[in-house]
Amino acid sequence: MTTFSGFRFDGRHAEAVPVIVHIDEGELIVKTADGTVDGTLLDRDRLDRVVVSEPFDRAPRLVWLPGGAALEVPDTNRSFAQQLRRSGVELSLAVRLQQRWPAVIVALAVIVAMLGLFYFKGLPATARWLAFSLPPRLEARMGEQVLGVLDKHYMRRSSVDIERRTRLANRFALAAAATAPGVRYRLEFRAAGNDGINAMALPGGIILVLDGLVRFAGDEDAVLGVLGHELGHVVNKHSVRQVLQSVGVGTVASLLWGDFSGVAASVPVVLGMLSYSREFEREADEFAIAFLRSQHVSARPLYDFFVKVRRWQSRLEDGQVPDFLATHPSTDERLDRLRREIR
Ligand SMILES: [Zn+2]
Repeated sequence: MTTFSGFRFDGRHAEAVPVIVHIDEGELIVKTADGTVDGTLLDRDRLDRVVVSEPFDRAPRLVWLPGGAALEVPDTNRSFAQQLRRSGVELSLAVRLQQRWPAVIVALAVIVAMLGLFYFKGLPATARWLAFSLPPRLEARMGEQVLGVLDKHYMRRSSVDIERRTRLANRFALAAAATAPGVRYRLEFRAAGNDGINAMALPGGIILVLDGLVRFAGDEDAVLGVLGHELGHVVNKHSVRQVLQSVGVGTVASLLWGDFSGVAASVPVVLGMLSYSREFEREADEFAIAFLRSQHVSARPLYDFFVKVRRWQSRLEDGQVPDFLATHPSTDERLDRLRREIR
């Protein structure tokens, strides 16, 4: 019979009493180790009633007895562990898995895959659900906050003449009524930087158009197409979803209740929040095509505009005012889609 030396703590005093421990027919037997031949019996408990600590390298095993006492059994050669196993004391599933490297690797892979799934599927899905359940009043407030930051640090009053702006706004209203009835929006004309070429959709349906874009596009149908594209972002609530996905709930909370300009003191942060994934851009393009179609306007001017911006941007140095391409990556895939529409 194998015996093990250890210490017993009675659960009331700090004193460690030297004991002899052995396992016999499913029972853990603890006797004093006072030099007498057999020792005095201190505990006798069925193994399924004691709790054994998980093995950790060569650290002593701890055994908690139902009566409140605890044992500390040094186990440098792991013979106590073997004896426990032979007597049917099962290790917890987690410990058994930890002892098998392939299982550890599989577990890690599963965790990484789940995180990935959450990031790519769960997070966007959650953001989408949140965006569509956000009360319109709160979303409008987010938009006002962002507009406030942009107005303070980045934008000036528009100098495009009022007739042109009115004409664009009227055409926009007609197409919006046809393709997105009931959707709240607000068109805002502004100037920025050194005639920055951009348009963006803020939360709450605020669509911002910069003078630079209106002038650079020249063709009014092209501007209408860009506005339709932005309305596509509004309809799909891309801006709120993007903010939720990229910077998280904390920033959204600060947009709603806190000092947002403190969080996003720099304009690039705001614009970074509003630069969309390929999927969002594709959705917005699809909407723009339907938007133009509803007014019997060809998608060609919009296509030409994208091509022109791309050509123009390749000549610019970095660090300029973010333009339409920076916030709306214009991929070949998107241009192909517009080209197909023109045919
Ligand atoms: Zn876009």
